[in-house]
Amino acid sequence: MKYVGAHISASGGVENAPLNAQAIGANAFAFFTKNQRQWFASAYTAQNIDRFKSRCEEFGFSPDHILPHSSYLINLGNPGEEEVQKSRAAIIDEMKRCEQLGINRLNFHPGSHLNQISVGACLNRIAESINIALEKTTGVTAVIENTAGQGTNLGYTFEQIAQIIDKVEDKSRVGVCLDTAHTLAAGYEIRTREGFEETFRKFDEIIGFHYLRGMHINDSKKELASRVDRHDSLGKGVMNMDLFRFIMNDPRFDNMPLILETPDETRWAEEIQMLYALIK
Ligand SMILES: [Zn+2]
Ligand SMILES: [Zn+2]
Repeated sequence: MKYVGAHISASGGVENAPLNAQAIGANAFAFFTKNQRQWFASAYTAQNIDRFKSRCEEFGFSPDHILPHSSYLINLGNPGEEEVQKSRAAIIDEMKRCEQLGINRLNFHPGSHLNQISVGACLNRIAESINIALEKTTGVTAVIENTAGQGTNLGYTFEQIAQIIDKVEDKSRVGVCLDTAHTLAAGYEIRTREGFEETFRKFDEIIGFHYLRGMHINDSKKELASRVDRHDSLGKGVMNMDLFRFIMNDPRFDNMPLILETPDETRWAEEIQMLYALIK
C-alpha cells in the first residue's frame, strides 16, 4: 500500500502537524521538528507530546509513515571544528525530539564541504557525525536525503551516500530518502521507463533498496543534471506524470512515507488525489 502526504506546517505547536496532514487527506506527513531557520528552540511540553501522539492515533498515522525533516542550518560535514560540534548537537536535539514523539526516523541533508576539505574527508566527517548522533539516541534512524548537488552539497550520487553508510557503525539505524527533483537535477534520468529502471537498478546495486525509508515526490523546475534544487508542483515542471505513475505502481515504494514538498500548498490535497489516481 502507498502512503502519500506532504511536508506540512507544525506552526503553533507540533501537535498541529497531524491535524494539518489529516486536513489534506494525507496518509503520511513530514514536518520540521522545530523552527528550521533557528539553532535552538524550546523543548516540547508534555501537552505537545500527548496531543501529537493522540492525534496521530486518532487520524491513523503510523510512525512508519512520518518522516520529519531536520533544520537547513545543520551541516554534519562542516570542516570547522566548532561548527560541526554545533551541527552535531542540533541533530541530536532533533533526534531526541523524534524519540519523544514516538517517531522512528529523521531526514537530513548529508552536508557540505564548503571548498575547505576534500569530498572524501567530508563524507567521513558526515559518517562520524551520524555515529555520534546514533550513540546518543535510541530508536531513531538517521535518514540521508540525496541532494541536487547544488554548491558544495554532497550526497548527490549514490556512491557518495554508499560511502557514508559504509562508515556508519549501526547499519540498522541508517537509511536513505530519495527526492525525485534532486535525483533528476543530480543527473539521473528517471522520467522514462528505461531510465527509471536503470536508476533504481543502480540504487539497489550501490546502496540497496533495504535502506530506503521514504521518498520526496516533487516535480522540478530545473533540468536533468542542472545541479540546481528547485521544486515544482506535480505536472508543472520538467518531469512528466510517468515518473509518478512508475513510483505509485511499484511495490518497492510500498509502506514508506511518500512526501510532497511542492511549492503550492493549496494544491497538496489535489496532488495527493492525483498520485492515488495513477494506481492501476
Ligand atoms: Zn530536504
Ligand atoms: Zn526533499
